Amino acid sequence: MKLQQVSDNCFAVLNEKNRVCDANSGLINRGGGVVIDTQSDLFHARRMIELFGTVWRGMPKRVVNTHEDGDHVWGNQLFEGAEIIAHRTVKERMPKVADPRETQQLIKAADRFLARMLLKALHPGALAIARQLREDFEFDGIKLVLPTTVFEERHVLDLDGTEVHLIYVGPCHQVGDTIIHVPKERVVFAGDIIFRECTPMGWNGSYEKWLEVLDLIIWLDPEVIVPGHGPVCGIEGAMEMKAYLEYVREESMRCFGQGLSALDASTKIDFGPYGRWHSPARLYMNVERAYREFRNEAADAPWDHAKTFDAILAVAKAKGIEVEF
Ligand SMILES: [Zn+2]
Repeated sequence: MKLQQVSDNCFAVLNEKNRVCDANSGLINRGGGVVIDTQSDLFHARRMIELFGTVWRGMPKRVVNTHEDGDHVWGNQLFEGAEIIAHRTVKERMPKVADPRETQQLIKAADRFLARMLLKALHPGALAIARQLREDFEFDGIKLVLPTTVFEERHVLDLDGTEVHLIYVGPCHQVGDTIIHVPKERVVFAGDIIFRECTPMGWNGSYEKWLEVLDLIIWLDPEVIVPGHGPVCGIEGAMEMKAYLEYVREESMRCFGQGLSALDASTKIDFGPYGRWHSPARLYMNVERAYREFRNEAADAPWDHAKTFDAILAVAKAKGIEVEF
């Protein structure tokens, strides 16, 4: 994990391993401080606080959650007394989408012989992701702390004369997606609208909206983008995400027309230049999302996590690569 200054008052903490749950955090170091996203577990959240602590005067007054996924909110409890700001749907959905017990139980199952054997037989992908997560994270002790302030379309903070715009852009990669724009410093904290050098994991939203939001980010003309995952970039990060999504949607359309399942399509579609990104087999999630749209299914239709991880493992095996989530 490393600290990077991206403008006069904006900083990022980056998880360089860039695998699942390696989310980034941001800091706007003015007006009492704003932290953006709080990491996947308490160990990483404490390390993030330590790194930001080298530049701030004291614990920040405000936290923003860019959306409801666990890897962006599980450190909230360490910011006692802070105002936690997010879109209204984040507060509504967090108890279900980011219930830490589901992940804690999965890790425990992978540790117990019988449960592990059962997982291996029924959901090998879930077992594989449990093993990877255990290498990187420690999910014990996490208590869900919900946003204390919610907003609808836009929320503006004034940090001693520096305006910070929270812009609701969901459902795009997830229902509660918000980007944070600091116009004066030409910085955008993009949350999971941008995955950089790793394959996006989109949950609930639409391709159309996602592409539209990437255009919005380009239109905002930032000098620096702090993505939700991966290294800091400029607008080329938004353009590459667009190209990836357009490529996968087009390839998925072709396979859908041939009557292939989403899983079969994912094994057939060439990774192309995106094979160099981390976790290329997560392609399955993006194909499945495209298929949901072709079938006119609701954007917020739930996901069966175990089956999704099984499919990612199956894609990696079919492509002859080591699975990475
Ligand atoms: Zn994330």
